[in-house]
Amino acid sequence: MKQTDFSVRQLIHGRLSLGDGPVLRVQNPATGEQLAEVPTASAATARLAAEANGAAAAEMRALSVAGRVALVRALGGAVRADRERLAAILTAESGKPIAESVGEVEYAASFFDNAASAAEMAAGEVPAARAADRRILVLREPVGATFAITPWNFPLAMIARKLAPALAAGCSQAVKPSEETPLTALAFTALFERVAREVGAPPAAFSCLVGDAATIACALIEHPSTRKLTFTGSTEVGRILAAQCAPRLMRTALELGGNAPFLVFADADLDRAVEQAVLTKFRFMGQTCISANRFLLDAGIAGEFLARLEWRMRALAVGDPRDERTRVGPLINDDAIAKVERHVANAVAGGARVRIGGARVKVAGLADRFYAPTILEGCTPSMACACEETFGPVVAAMTFASEREAIELANGVASGLAGYVMTQDADRLMRVAEALDCGVVGANDGAPSAAEAPFGGRKDSGLGREGGAHGLDAYVDLKYVSMRVRG
Ligand code: ADP
Repeated sequence: MKQTDFSVRQLIHGRLSLGDGPVLRVQNPATGEQLAEVPTASAATARLAAEANGAAAAEMRALSVAGRVALVRALGGAVRADRERLAAILTAESGKPIAESVGEVEYAASFFDNAASAAEMAAGEVPAARAADRRILVLREPVGATFAITPWNFPLAMIARKLAPALAAGCSQAVKPSEETPLTALAFTALFERVAREVGAPPAAFSCLVGDAATIACALIEHPSTRKLTFTGSTEVGRILAAQCAPRLMRTALELGGNAPFLVFADADLDRAVEQAVLTKFRFMGQTCISANRFLLDAGIAGEFLARLEWRMRALAVGDPRDERTRVGPLINDDAIAKVERHVANAVAGGARVRIGGARVKVAGLADRFYAPTILEGCTPSMACACEETFGPVVAAMTFASEREAIELANGVASGLAGYVMTQDADRLMRVAEALDCGVVGANDGAPSAAEAPFGGRKDSGLGREGGAHGLDAYVDLKYVSMRVRG
């Protein structure tokens, strides 16, 4: 793709304009070539954007539910209609295999559909009052101006997951996308500007600012009109942001890192378990926060499971992410591949065995960022690959002798985002699903994400839920009116 194929304009106060700060160079992780130069927003521009976001909150609050729903539905339709182009941009800047990028665009559109439906169905409450002369009305009001910070692994879907319910609830939102993947966000931004004009919605309801993360975050968080921060990213940055929001007692939703266990019991259907393992582990080469990180296997079937998984992994096509057949593309950047190498080296030094992979793979004509699908056998809970999120195509396997031990291993980490349980025993399925200390459980399901489900984590994986009716509630402030009624 050429520089001219990308929109590099930001959206501030309803106007598309070039940033006034230093230029950000965006690279294609597969080829190493520069895709575009994006002029970023300066601190002064970020402060203006915060001001405009606050003013737009009042306009959104005044917009009827029908008007909000029309905007959100139209955005879903526009995203879907532009599927091929958005997916190509997403793949170019993230290295996500193109088939998955197309899937992400559809996933993003589903958040707009879902939020529009949730807003249409939303209803307040009239609880039974104890006194005869009293009525209590619970009103749902929009939170106001909100600020979102999104990561590079779902450059479109994470914006959709935050923006769709914000708009549907009657809030404005300023978004700062990741500096690794601003081009998908800016393509969506141009689309938003057009759709808002077409449906007559406030054009400033959404702003998109690309630039230095800390500078933009400070401007938005410190501005008195910003009422909520929603962040998806690392636990480390989540803690910094929570501390920044604390003096203002600002609402925060934090979707942070995971360290998902994938439990395979002896009574699992092994072929089905292998399919689900491939889904969770090789979606975007393991670079998602709900990717299985630790494979906990019943000692009785561990060998057989890994043999079948190995066979399946050997069939995964490693290559150019623009190719429809590719399942394994490049990792996002050099730090990502260095982390995978560090985890594998640490495991091997600790006694783990590389069953397959364990090194970079050279793909002709492309950058040196491809890592082979890897199985590490004989891992232990103290290894780096078990304590930290590897975020790469590595299956770190260890065994257990009982259900109790499996649950202890599964829960014995600081994170609590997702967990997977593979079994055909319905009692065990429910027992283990309930025992897992996390927010999302894939029960014989390696791809549990869905726009209609309340996604989020526990412990170091953060706070808040996104998706479905709960996702809408995250942008709603309850108020009750107590009335005295004379008889
Ligand atoms: P990852 O390691 O997956 O890139 P990060 O938490 O570093 O995760 O990044 C997620 C998002 O947080 C990105 O948009 C990034 O620019 C932003 N970010 C990083 N550091 C800060 C910070 N100090 N303040 C605000 N946002 C930040």
